[in-house]
This record gives sequence, C-alpha cells and structure tokens, in this order.
Amino acid sequence: MGGATMAASLADSCRRLVILERGHHLVESDLCRNAKAIFGQGAFQNDETWDTPIGKEFNPGNYYFVGGNSKLYGAALFRFRAEDFEEIKHIGGISPAWPITYQEFEPWYQMAEDMYEVCGHIGDDPTEPFHSGKYSNLPVPHETSILDAASRLAKQGLSPAHLPLGVDIKAWLAGGETGWDAYPNTGTGKKDAESIGIAKALGHDSVRLEIGCMVKRLISDESGRITAVEYQKGNRMERISGKMVILSAGAVNSAAILLQSASNHYPDGLANRSDQVGRNFMNHNTHAVLSLHPFRKNPSIYQKTLYFNDYYLSGGPNNEPLGNVQLLGKITAPILDSQINLPYPMIEWIAQRSIDWYVMSEDLPNPESRMTIRNDRIILDWQRSNWQANSLLVSKFKNHLRKAGWPIVLSKAFDRTVPSHQCGTVRFGNSPESCPLNIWCQAHDHSNLFVVDASFLPNSAAVNPALTIAAQALRVADHIKEKLLK
Ligand SMILES: Cc1cc2nc3c(=O)[nH]c(=O)nc-3n(C[C@H](O)[C@H](O)[C@H](O)COP(=O)(O)OP(=O)(O)OC[C@H]3O[C@@H](n4cnc5c(N)ncnc54)[C@H](O)[C@@H]3O)c2cc1C
Repeated sequence: MGGATMAASLADSCRRLVILERGHHLVESDLCRNAKAIFGQGAFQNDETWDTPIGKEFNPGNYYFVGGNSKLYGAALFRFRAEDFEEIKHIGGISPAWPITYQEFEPWYQMAEDMYEVCGHIGDDPTEPFHSGKYSNLPVPHETSILDAASRLAKQGLSPAHLPLGVDIKAWLAGGETGWDAYPNTGTGKKDAESIGIAKALGHDSVRLEIGCMVKRLISDESGRITAVEYQKGNRMERISGKMVILSAGAVNSAAILLQSASNHYPDGLANRSDQVGRNFMNHNTHAVLSLHPFRKNPSIYQKTLYFNDYYLSGGPNNEPLGNVQLLGKITAPILDSQINLPYPMIEWIAQRSIDWYVMSEDLPNPESRMTIRNDRIILDWQRSNWQANSLLVSKFKNHLRKAGWPIVLSKAFDRTVPSHQCGTVRFGNSPESCPLNIWCQAHDHSNLFVVDASFLPNSAAVNPALTIAAQALRVADHIKEKLLK
C-alpha cells in the first residue's frame, strides 16, 4: 500500500522509477474463489517461516504478490479518528500522540480516498472526523440480514454505520458469489495496491516493475547516503543505484532489511541511531464473534458492510477507549471448518445462520515488543498489550447481541501468528534519539532513504491501517516532489 501509492504519485516527476518486488502477479485461477483451498489449505500463502523467541517456527501469513497484503485484504478503508493523533490513556497504557495533527494530515486522507475510490457515507458514526470532501461512491449496500442487524443494533442505542470500502461490488460479484475479505483479487473488484497504485504507476513510461526481486540489503557510504540496493533475482545477486531509495516492504520486512544492512559505519543497522528499528511492533487485538439464532438463516454472500464505533473512545472502567466492531466477510462452512474442530453437519448449521463480526482494539507501542534477526532469520516477539480492552469490548458486544435477539453468541481470539495489521517498527517523529524517521518518513541519518509502509505508524489505533498508509505515502510523495525533485 505504501510503495505502490508512492510510485503512483511520484511517477510523473521521475525520470526513472524502478519497483523491486519479491513476489509475482496474482493470476486468475479456479482457486481464487475456492474457500476450502484459500482458508483450509493456505493456497495463496507463501511458505516462509519466522521464529518465536523460543525458536518455534510459524508461517506469518503475509502475502507476497505485486500489491502485497492488499491483494487479499478486506478493503475496509478507514481514517484514524482525530483523537488517534493525540495522546490517549487506554486500560493498558498510553497511546502516544502523532508528531502532526489530524487537521494537518486530513488533505491526504481525502486524496487517498479519492485515489482508492472509496465507497462510504459520512454522518452515521459519532466518531467520524472532519472530511474536506465526499466519498467517491455510495456505500456498498447491506444485504437483507445485515439491514436487519443494523436495525436491531440501533434499537440497542448503538450507531451502526456503512463500512468505508474500496470495493466495486458489481465487478467483484461478476467473478464469483463470495465475500472479498481474505480472498485474492485478480481483477478490479477490489481497489488494492496493484489494481489502483501499481496500475496508475505503470501508466507512465518512466516506471519499471521488476518482479521476483528479493531485496537483501541497502549499501551505504560513510556519509550515510544509500549508494545501492542489493537484491536476489533467481540465483543471481544484483545491485541497482538511484538518487533516492524508498523502502516499502511492510513493517517487519522493512525493519529486517534495515537491520541486515549493518556495516562498519552503521553496526546496528541503518536508520538505527535510536535503537528503535524493529521495536514497537504492534498488531491489533482481535476476536471473531459469531451471533446466531436457531430459526433465522443468514443468506448473505459478502456481508462485510457494517461497523460501529460506540466504544471507540470510551467504555472502559475509567472511560478508556475499547475499540471498533465491524463485520467480517461471510464465514461459510469451509472457512469455519478450517478454524474449529466440529462435525461438518454442525459446522454447516452454524455457518448457515451466523452473522460474523470482527472486534478490534488498539495494541500499544512497547520497545520490548519487537522483531530481530538471528542467523538471517526473522524472530518476532510480539508482546501484546491492552488485551483487557478487547476482552471487555467482546463481553459488552455479546450482551448487546443477546439483547438484540441472538440467543447464541460464540467468540474466538484471532491467532497470534497472523500479523495482518503489523506496524510501528520504524516509527516517525521529531526526535532522532527516539524515532528512526522524521515526519516525512525520511531516515534522520540517511537523507536519500525514505521508509513508507505500515512501519512508520507511532500507534495502531483501532481501525484498519491501509488508508492511513496510503495517505502518508501521498503526503511523503508530495514533500519529495516539492522539496527534492524540483
Ligand atoms: C487477510 C488480510 C485482510 C486485511 N484487511 C484489511 C482491511 O480490510 N483494511 C485495511 O486497512 N487493512 C487490511 N489488511 C492490512 C493491510 O493489507 C496492510 O496493512 C497493508 O497492505 C500494509 O501495507 P504495507 O505497504 O505496509 O505493506 P505490504 O502490503 O505488506 O506490502 C509490502 C510489499 O513488499 C514486498 N516485499 C516484502 N519484502 C520484500 C523484499 N525483501 N524485497 C522485495 N519486496 C518485498 C511484498 O511482497 C509486498 O508487495 C489486511 C491484511 C490481510 C493479510
């Protein structure tokens, strides 16, 4: 999301822009709408493994394609709330302020929404921050069961709202009658980093995309300038040089590349004077909640159109924030079967009736929550924080659901090994002593190096991160065009 959006914005100002991508293009196949293959057999997952601190290998569930993780994302394109840019006290500690305000950042949110053609509606959510423009498209319509759920939740005093989505629903359903969350996008149904960002960038003759290129390290001279990027293509190691290097490999991989670029001049890795590279790893605290009525079926196909933020800024024992509740894509029997061990007829019974929710709370930055490199392998030590907020939100939500007419409510925490909202590992800020990047995502110590992906985030907020990453990319690209490319 970061790299593709940067490339699209910089394309018309560069003589030559080369994108190095480790993955390949996602291509259409019978597997693309096959829930059993995707969720049960991990058809689109890579086979990379990372380690836990005690040496247990796990597959991190990252997607390495042109377009990155956004190829399989749920396309919920949220703005952080204005309060997320300020310091907030949570049950588990402090969420720090950004070095810039929401008001300063807002124009790029608008540009990112316009670019990713977000469908939505302003006015239903009391936490909605100021928008300088309108959404490009009307919201994706709720299906019948979701309309009913919205009315039941509203009767509970909640404020159900339309999810802001980067989805062209007609184009998506033309490819098959499934949801889009965690399904791969091979066309234009999802507005993702390839179908929008890379497509726009490649519309310019100046841009070249090189696939199957695994970046290993950045080479720097003693002044701190990045002189080359070293990457592996097939069996060959190659180098490429440019006036400017933008690193956008995702929060964990960007930090890994900086640490692996250690040299005599920079023994702790690049951009790491603060010793913060790889630290402050965050991912959201999340639960799936399924609400069921034995005599009411949910025939929804895509489902993921509704959210509410009534507990986003309050609800804790001392009125601390709890988080966001939004719909998951429809959980079908093959999806549920890949997650829980029950007889298949019972799985089918549940999946035909359930409405499936995603309950998300903020994870707070902590320098001890970190990724490191040992023997060329990534070690992820996620020290999850603020879990109590998520548990409390789940319990309050379950009460609402029961009162709203769903007698059966089930919940399950999402697996710790899936860092799909990873962020924070190369954070931006004013002080070179505590932040690797300045407020333009430029490394304090390397004037021609920018890191533009989820790693810059100083907090994780409690909404999905992709729109904020895209907005920051557009902001950084504008800065580069104005100050460095003129
Ligand atoms: C199933 C799923 C659902 C999600 N749903 C949502 C949602 O609804 N809304 C939302 O806002 N967010 C969602 N997310 C999260 C969102 O996709 C990410 O936050 C976003 O894509 C992160 O963007 P990024 O630029 O940091 O990195 P990435 O998307 O991870 O992109 C990094 C790119 O760098 C490439 N790369 C990595 N290492 C190297 C290397 N060494 N050399 C060369 N190339 C490399 C990767 O292949 C990839 O193309 C979801 C994620 C997943 C997995």
